[in-house]
Amino acid sequence: MFADRERLVEELQQIEDAGLWKQERLITGPQGVRINTEDGEVLNFCANNYLGLSSHPAILEAAHAALDSHGFGLSSVRFICGTQDIHKQLEARISKFLSTEDTILYTSCFDANGGLFETFLGPEDAVISDELNHASIIDGIRLCKAKRHRYSHADMSDLQRCLTDASDARTRMVVTDGVFSMHGDLAPLDEISALCEEHRAVLVVDDSHSTGFIGKTGRGTAEHFGVQDRVDIITSTLGKALGGASGGFTTGRREMIALLRQRSRPYLFSNTLAPAITAAGIRVLDLIDEEPERVERSQSNTLRFRQGMTRAGFAITPGIHPIVPIMIHDERKTMEMASAMNERGIFVVGFSYPVVPRGEARIRVQISAGHDTDQIDRAIAVFSEVGKDLGLLP
Ligand SMILES: *Cc1c(COP(=O)(O)O)cnc(C)c1O
Repeated sequence: MFADRERLVEELQQIEDAGLWKQERLITGPQGVRINTEDGEVLNFCANNYLGLSSHPAILEAAHAALDSHGFGLSSVRFICGTQDIHKQLEARISKFLSTEDTILYTSCFDANGGLFETFLGPEDAVISDELNHASIIDGIRLCKAKRHRYSHADMSDLQRCLTDASDARTRMVVTDGVFSMHGDLAPLDEISALCEEHRAVLVVDDSHSTGFIGKTGRGTAEHFGVQDRVDIITSTLGKALGGASGGFTTGRREMIALLRQRSRPYLFSNTLAPAITAAGIRVLDLIDEEPERVERSQSNTLRFRQGMTRAGFAITPGIHPIVPIMIHDERKTMEMASAMNERGIFVVGFSYPVVPRGEARIRVQISAGHDTDQIDRAIAVFSEVGKDLGLLP
């Protein structure tokens, strides 16, 4: 028996007793709108596969070709011998896609956020963060020595208070998720960017749940609000809409990206992005622009599902994002609903405390451009059946 075993057994038991044990469901084939599981085929409504590109033939082809032309892995960080032509091409392609000055790749957006704040901020600076920001932003902020300010979620008068409190700081950096994953709500970047301008603050947006499909041409939250030139730094992931494998990036002001290449620890001390993922990333961005109907379908599918669920009598959080929270409130009913849906072949997940506040339990549906209208309608129909069975609908 190792020294800590007893304590860990107890801690594991506490997690289980509290009903918080996370069970992984085994998928036995590729990610997609239909997935094979150990219990058979289900229609998938809970992946971040917003554009349906995770197993798209053109993406697989680009990845296969890069395996042949550029090999499997580099066994090196970027600055020693881990930079291939395709890494520079993907960085340039992202900059072009988002109309930014320069881009730096990471192996995840978690790392992009982990290496961001410490690079720019010292004890004489201030970082101002939305209270619901992603865990990787919280962790990234923990690594820097700046004074920390936290504002109530999307509360502009509270953000203003923080900016005023930080008026003596050398640099004020405001950071927000572009889209918040549990609610599917967009950060009000029009107001946030105006406040940043007024208070001479740097604005950082983590657009992991938007890049590729939010905004008219999929440029993200800033495009939606018409403020692309007012966001200084965007961090995002290749692991959601953009093919879904892994990888992340930071993009924005030239001097900031240059400093990240010199100082950012996950960039300097962690391996380079694999060639197959890098080349596939370029193909993903090309495909989004070549076939704009994919972004349009993400938006029209989302609208169809949101309207259908509302008509069926469900309380859904209003909005435009393919993340659609169906509010059940009661924790037990939420879990019952999720498992009844799954039994009927619609794969959805329930979220309850502590992931969301007590009494705000919900099913979080994610709509994909890969769904067809019959599949959307089928999900609405099954939700209605199950809702009636459980007494949630009249
Ligand atoms: C998913 C997500 C991340 C993490 O991205 P990875 O590339 O998977 O590490 C970071 N920030 C936000 C807001 C996310 O939703």
